[in-house]
Order: sequence, then structure tokens, then C-alpha cells
Amino acid sequence: MLTQAVTTNPAQFVPLDAHPLQNVRKKPLFGLDRTALAARMAAVGEPPWRGRQLAEALYRQRLAEIDQITTLPKALRQQMETESFEVGRPKIAQVFQSVDGTERYLIQGQDENGQTVEAVWMPEGDDGESGDGSEPIQPASIQTDISREAGESKSWSRATVCVSSQVGCAVNCQFCLTAKLGLQRNLTAGEIAGQVVAILDRHSVEVGKDRLNLVFMGMGEPFLNYDNFMAAVRLLVEETGLSPQRMTVSTSGIVPGIERFAQEPDAVRPKLAISLNAPNDQIRGEIMPINRKWPIQAVMDAVRQVRLRSRERITFEYVLLGGVTDQPQHAREVARLVRRSGLPAKVNLIAWNPGPGIAYTMPTPHAVETFRATLSAEGIPVYLRRPRGRDIFAACGQLKRTVER
Ligand code: SAH
Ligand code: SF4
Repeated sequence: MLTQAVTTNPAQFVPLDAHPLQNVRKKPLFGLDRTALAARMAAVGEPPWRGRQLAEALYRQRLAEIDQITTLPKALRQQMETESFEVGRPKIAQVFQSVDGTERYLIQGQDENGQTVEAVWMPEGDDGESGDGSEPIQPASIQTDISREAGESKSWSRATVCVSSQVGCAVNCQFCLTAKLGLQRNLTAGEIAGQVVAILDRHSVEVGKDRLNLVFMGMGEPFLNYDNFMAAVRLLVEETGLSPQRMTVSTSGIVPGIERFAQEPDAVRPKLAISLNAPNDQIRGEIMPINRKWPIQAVMDAVRQVRLRSRERITFEYVLLGGVTDQPQHAREVARLVRRSGLPAKVNLIAWNPGPGIAYTMPTPHAVETFRATLSAEGIPVYLRRPRGRDIFAACGQLKRTVER
């Protein structure tokens, strides 16, 4: 039936592109720093200080549509839209809520057809930041948030945001679900910073008032997307106003990346966490193949190049895999490694979170406690990360779902 109706006369073909204007390639502004924004404005005949105005609107006021930027004259806003400019901030496409208050997001990047990326909001954090020099020690009586006016209380007094730096990851750690994807693509600076700004907006976070920690510990290896990762950090520090001392970047030990990071000025350098995860090169090489390229001592040498701020410490993350890395002798070896590094450091223990198709087992609560106590008895500051959002696959190493759908 249908075939009979199909015309063979080319003059009768109707192009699907019935609204050509809608298909004009948009020019996103989000992700550009104020100098680049000023250059875009100069191209439409505006003075350079429009760059500062736009940066303020995008990153501080968190406006998501050009029409909302009322600091710009209406005629200019209209002109910008005619010329196909858009804010182009990544959007939260889907939210999963955990019983513990954690939220996991699928965020649509700047390529509307591209895969979504994952980010996580953890009210009250997961204790990962404990003891790394970022939290002033306060007497219990003044620990509550006193900066907020009476009557405008929020359901959280501090929060941690965890963002992704890549879709998938090329590093191939054997215990990590993200590794199963391989590397799909690098995120742009706008897509990395955009996850943060979209989440700040969703929770009405007041930058400078609310206690907010940011961790680059989602999907991907930040130091294998170094330029975009650091460009995002600069936007978040210089434009959004977040403190680099409340940010932590975690790396599996990409030595050239750590060496570059060591050269970053204090004003924009987050704190550093190293995913140690094993007591020696032999076990680490098995569970993290990257160790064969950059073994533990090469990583330590690179980390020693970072000039730490006063009271700042390096965090060593350590995933406890049942029977593989969770034995008391492993704890003693880790203590020796950390002591010999000569670095001011602390160890964050993470009980392995299971994932489909990964043949490890969770450590028993007894093994976790023994490991913690052994490290502590050896004089190493040690903290246990609380698993957050396991029921919604938001916990460490569980971010993957996105690209499977
Ligand atoms: N690629 C970076 C940052 C993202 S992974 C890195 O590896 O450091 C963030 C942390 O989650 C790392 O310390 C990693 O070792 C840990 N992790 C990965 N998979 C995990 C899992 N299944 N359970 C618990 N922690 C995991
Ligand atoms: Fe990549 Fe980190 Fe997962 Fe290793 S643990 S595969 S580096 S995301």
C-alpha cells in the first residue's frame, strides 16, 4: 500500500529539514573563560568588558538561557540568539535518588547526540575529605552551619559533589566498572565544569557560604584529559568562586600528569589523591595494569614534586578487595610504603563496591576493621569512606550505566 503512494517525481520530495534555522549549528558559550567570551563579544562589535559580564552570568549567577542575562541589553541578547549563540550548559537529563539522600545524575553534555555523563551529589559527604587539611578542626558546639539566617535551613549542612572527566576510561583497573566501557571520549572543559554548575543550581548552593567539597572521582582518569580538566578547575575557581582547597582530584598514577600538576600555581591547584589500592608492585600490577608502566616508586617520586600547602596532605586511596588486598600483612606493607614516601599523607579505605561481571568479593567488615586498626597502630592517619548511594549505583567505581542504555 505505502509503496504505491511513494512518488518518483523528485520535485515532490519534501526535505525533512523544514525549519532550516533550527538546524543551524549552535555556538555554546559555557566552557569559555572570560578572555574567550570577550573575543566572541568583540566579534559582534561589543566592548571587551562584556566578557566579564557574561562570565559572571554563566558561572556565578548560573543563568542557563541568554534571555535571562538581563545585565546585557535586550537588543544584544536578541542579536546573540540570531547569531546562534546559546549558553549551552550541560543539562541534568535524569536523576536517581538513593535512600541515603545521595543523587546520581545523567547529564547531557554539549553534544546533544553524545552519551550522557554521570555525576553524584552526596549530602553530608562520604568522609573522604576527613583529615586532609581542608576541614578546620572545630569544637563540636560550633560545627553547625551558623552562616545561614534563621528560617532558611537546608536539609544538609555540607555536601560533596563528584564529577566525571571522561566518558568511560582507558586505564582498565580490574575492579572498576567504568573500565568495562573503555574510553568513549574526553569531556570538554564546559562539560566538566557544567556538571558542577548544574548541580549547584539544582541544590541552590550558595558559593562561599555553604560547605561544599568537589571531587574529580567520577568516570574517567582526569590526568588523561589534563588540559580540559584544568581548564574546568580554573573556571570553577576563578569564575564560580569555589576554593581549590575544597577540591580533590584522584588519579590512578599517571606520572606525566602528576608532574604537570606539580607545576600548577597554588591558587588553582586542587588537592591530590592517588589510587594506591595495593601494598606492592606485584599485586598492583595485577589489579591496575597501569602500574607496569608507572610503578609505585615512580608515582611517589612525581608526587613529591608537588609543593603542598601548610597542613595539606596527600590522600592515598585504597580499595579493599576481599582476600586480595585486605590482609593485615598488606596493611603493614602499606604503612611502610607511606612512611618511606616521606609525604604528609593519609589513607582513605574504600570497601570494594561490587559490579556485574567483576570477579572480586567485598571485604568482610572484620577485615575492614582489622586493616584500619593495623594502619592506625602503625601511626598512619586512616579514614573509612562511607559507601553512598549503592542502591542507585552511585558509589565509587559503579558509574557506568549511562552508555549501556
Ligand atoms: N580514575 C581516577 C578517578 C576515578 S575512580 C582514579 O582511579 O583515581 C575514583 C576512586 O574509585 C579510585 O580511588 C578507585 O580506585 C575507586 N574505585 C574504582 N572502582 C571501585 C569499586 N568498585 N569499589 C570501590 N572503589 C572503587
Ligand atoms: Fe579508570 Fe579510575 Fe576506574 Fe581505574 S579506577 S579504570 S583509572 S576510573
